[in-house]
Amino acid sequence: MSTLSAEEKYRNFIPQESLEYLEKLFAGFKRTVTIEVYTAEGEHREYNEFTLNICRAFNVLSDKIELREYAADSEMAEKRKIIATPTVLISPDEYDIRFLGAPAGEEGRALVEALNLASMGIDAISDSTKETLEPLNEERQIKIFASPTCPYCPGQAINAFKAAVARPDKISAWNISTLDNENMAREYNVGSVPHTNINEEATFTGLEPEEKFMLQLLFLKPIDEVIKEQRAAKSQKDSELPYEEIDLVIVGGGPAGMSAGIYAKRSGLSCIILEKQGIGGQVALTPKVENYPGFTNIQGFELVEILGSHAREYTDIQQFSEVKEVKYGPRIEITTDEKKYRAKGILLATGVNVRMLGVPGEDKFYGHGVSYCATCDGNFYKGGKAIVVGGGNTALTDALHLKHLGIETTIVHRRDQFRAEKVLQNSVEREGIEVIWDSQLTEVIGEDQVESARILKKDGTELIKDTDVVFVAIGHTANTELAEKLGCELREDGFIKVDPTQRTSVERVYAAGDVTGGVRQIITATGQGAAAALTAFDDFTRLFSDSKIETKNIW
Ligand code: NAP
Repeated sequence: MSTLSAEEKYRNFIPQESLEYLEKLFAGFKRTVTIEVYTAEGEHREYNEFTLNICRAFNVLSDKIELREYAADSEMAEKRKIIATPTVLISPDEYDIRFLGAPAGEEGRALVEALNLASMGIDAISDSTKETLEPLNEERQIKIFASPTCPYCPGQAINAFKAAVARPDKISAWNISTLDNENMAREYNVGSVPHTNINEEATFTGLEPEEKFMLQLLFLKPIDEVIKEQRAAKSQKDSELPYEEIDLVIVGGGPAGMSAGIYAKRSGLSCIILEKQGIGGQVALTPKVENYPGFTNIQGFELVEILGSHAREYTDIQQFSEVKEVKYGPRIEITTDEKKYRAKGILLATGVNVRMLGVPGEDKFYGHGVSYCATCDGNFYKGGKAIVVGGGNTALTDALHLKHLGIETTIVHRRDQFRAEKVLQNSVEREGIEVIWDSQLTEVIGEDQVESARILKKDGTELIKDTDVVFVAIGHTANTELAEKLGCELREDGFIKVDPTQRTSVERVYAAGDVTGGVRQIITATGQGAAAALTAFDDFTRLFSDSKIETKNIW
């Protein structure tokens, strides 16, 4: 006979390291949240059992979580239009937030966030999301296809849950696990997660910043198209743009730019942050941050929200505002679609982007056989063949992950040695992962799906290697377009050259964060942003007390 009470049994279901966090989180719940679980006997047995166990455990941990269990063929299931088992509904009398499939692994994180949002209600929704969704007068059904091993998926699911909490009258948000809903994933042609489908009409791949997600949800179109149309509607001529005199324009709303905004304003400089997408840069797309001092473990987008609200206390942040032109002079002229700025100086915190191979077939198969995230999409290729391109830590970590999923994995690397840590190199050798050295992948080949890849060896010979998927893990490239226009010197590896005070080679042009290369950590980016702002303050005090440079109408 078991010596454990039912309560202890369910508590034990939660890993010890998560218990304390969950108890604290649930203790702060504002309103009671109802979980309805729909399961069926026989079908998807382990998934159904797992789902019941995790929901019962949450119920045991908090008196603010009410649990109701139903059979998938019950009247209630019919009323709630249950189409898969297991299904979990969150406060269904108020919202249509549901999980189709077991919320395991990373999807468990999404479940916890969904409970939190339902308990906090509209108070947990940012003003910008509320404003964006206010004009919505049609229904939106959001389906996020996710997998338990995809670290980016909870972020996209949470975007959808926030929308459903902001406008429960119009928006529903479903998180669909591809693991136990394979048929539905196939029906929606999901080849990469997170995969977002809205109203069976618009499809988006990958995790998106919150603001971008909300705009696309409203307009049912990719953000670039939305912005283009809005601009065309304004059809403002360059010469008619209003201008603003300002001390410092900060380009880039990642950690470096946001911390620079705080420091610049506190020094007494007027400034603005221009961000061509949503704030956060790479951090917004980072699943988990465990090395930013003061936060033992925080999701990237949460850290971005904290940084963003802190920065906004000091400075204006213009999102989706791209710098179109920059001209150097006694005042630096910076032009966006809405405005011209005449600034004493400019700080480039323009960050990095994932590096693409730039070979034929890469674009065509993106999301369907070409992927930049092995932990997200590896599951789709179980039992198949994969090629990983690259020789750094990411490439080798990816190759090991894929091999452990039972995928026949080959690494293609352009040199005869890896730059990855020795311990990873040893694991790759131990696991018997094939490596094609001194070779470049030059084409991804296939008709409707990826069938093979063309590989060019150093000796000039070519090889066609069968594969179902190509994972690209070749690092990042610095966004230096503006720096180059301003004539800033670049380092050999393409990053912007700066001195220890963040000055570039051009006077009154500063750079900070990932775009300057080096260790590329959030903590160094924020530090560099702060240093750059303080240097700008020193420089402006010195330079602009001299009347020679105080020329107003220079162009
Ligand atoms: P990375 O260290 O910059 O490595 C990029 C790899 O891609 C290199 O092997 C490079 O080859 C190759 N490459 C670059 N451009 C290429 C091209 N056009 N065609 C073919 N190959 C190309 O990037 P990463 O692996 O993404 O790592 C980024 C940072 O994250 C690093 O600081 C890394 O340590 C860190 N990270 C750490 C872990 C971990 O600790 N487990 C895991 C992932 C990432 P060459 O070697 O010939 O230059």
